[in-house]
Amino acid sequence: MYNVAIVGAGPAGIFAALEIMKLKPEWKVVLIEKGQKIEKRKCLLREGYEKCPNCKRCGLLCGWGGAGAFSDGKLTLTPDVGGHLLDYMSRDKVEDLIKYSDDLYLKFGATEEVFGTDYNTFRELEREASLAELKLVYSPVRHLGTERSLDVLKNMQDYLDERITIRNDVAARNLIVECEQVKGLILDNGEEIRAEYTIIAPGREGADWLTKEFSQNKIGMVNNAVDVGVRVELPAPVFEPITSKLYESKLIYHSPTFGDEVRTFCMNPNGEVVQENYNGIATVNGHSYAEKTTNNTNFALLVSERFTEPFKEPIQYGQHIASLANMLAGGILVQRFGDLLDGRRSTPERIKASILTPTLTCATPGDLSLVIPYRQMTSIIEMLYALDKIAPGTASRYTLLYGIEVKFYSARVKLTNELETEGVKNLFAIGDGAGVTRGLIQASASGIHAARVICGR
Ligand SMILES: Cc1cc2nc3c(=O)[nH]c(=O)nc-3n(C[C@H](O)[C@H](O)[C@H](O)COP(=O)(O)OP(=O)(O)OC[C@H]3O[C@@H](n4cnc5c(N)ncnc54)[C@H](O)[C@@H]3O)c2cc1C
Repeated sequence: MYNVAIVGAGPAGIFAALEIMKLKPEWKVVLIEKGQKIEKRKCLLREGYEKCPNCKRCGLLCGWGGAGAFSDGKLTLTPDVGGHLLDYMSRDKVEDLIKYSDDLYLKFGATEEVFGTDYNTFRELEREASLAELKLVYSPVRHLGTERSLDVLKNMQDYLDERITIRNDVAARNLIVECEQVKGLILDNGEEIRAEYTIIAPGREGADWLTKEFSQNKIGMVNNAVDVGVRVELPAPVFEPITSKLYESKLIYHSPTFGDEVRTFCMNPNGEVVQENYNGIATVNGHSYAEKTTNNTNFALLVSERFTEPFKEPIQYGQHIASLANMLAGGILVQRFGDLLDGRRSTPERIKASILTPTLTCATPGDLSLVIPYRQMTSIIEMLYALDKIAPGTASRYTLLYGIEVKFYSARVKLTNELETEGVKNLFAIGDGAGVTRGLIQASASGIHAARVICGR
């Protein structure tokens, strides 16, 4: 019998375990992670495979560290970005949790430097953005880079390995609920794990499982938005007016035609575009490394759609668009902005006759207008022209658009302010999988919060 069972060794699950071990070192805790230990995790695409082999458990998203392990490791140190924790507690409290989580990253080896703290450096940029009808959102960022991120997570794994039971390569299959109280879990090998408290932190990758399992136990869920868009890649100097002043900025625009919100997301100066896998569907993302650099900058342009009744399947909607791109391209599709405007597909020859070389070499040149609905496509095009006003060259015909980038924000679990489920006692849901967060630092902070509540009971 354990005191606490945790599902998922992403930042949310790891930070919950770290805090429990600080407050109750004598407690028995088990952490169940369906992927591998950090040193065994690998993504064949990153190791030179041309096409994603659709591994049963995606090495990029599953395993110690979760989706954050090979991520760029940008810790966005503000409550305004990367999650909804402000819906559950006061700003002061979220700020404290973020500071506390950030200090833990530092303790386990994060880089000291924080970018984006000097307002004077980006004041002029804010003015230019306003003139282009763009809203500039800035936040202090600690950038680990993928290599350092892996080191920090390995240090956490080593530390916890000596204190709790870590079970890798096995998934949680069912919750055990008796008399409206959670009693533990059944694993996919049939094993039963009994625990007084259970924390579910399966990330976006495990969100479908969470939704299914929670609805079977009559735990309420609320629809979240889905963000559909492309990853933009251009020569790094083109975006320097922005990236040289602000390491991580977010620019928000409301498209004149539809009034939809379009935003930049996850900017990677001198980084590379990568493919990831979501339940067998290939989608795009981006990275930048602390040491290894490219000549290109990439960022996502995402259009937010929030559906109204009776539609309840925003994730399936996003998956459908992404799988359409997969169907046409056999994976990721890439198109030059000029070809899109000219109403023709990109071809390998046209991509070659460009001023930049794509960093995601396995992407197939094609036609995004066959994939992205008119509404989102129009908003993306209008946003590129708005960005061109503050970073001339953004709307160049050579700018590359990779599709599809989708952010599936898992349906949000109905939770109390303590992040305990409404309906099943002692069951907590945290991180991206519960729809509570969207980034590393808030996912980590949600783990700390749940751990403190549990230890305080
Ligand atoms: C390529 C990429 C780059 C990113 N870059 C950044 C960035 O720079 N900054 C930032 O703030 N955020 C970034 N993110 C987002 C960030 O990684 C996530 O917000 C964060 O990892 C969420 O943490 P989590 O613990 O909720 O879930 P996850 O990190 O997704 O971890 C969930 C874990 O649960 C496991 N799991 C799922 N289901 C089960 C089950 N049934 N049984 C057992 N285990 C299960 C999974 O294998 C996984 O390891 C990036 C994401 C990606 C994919």
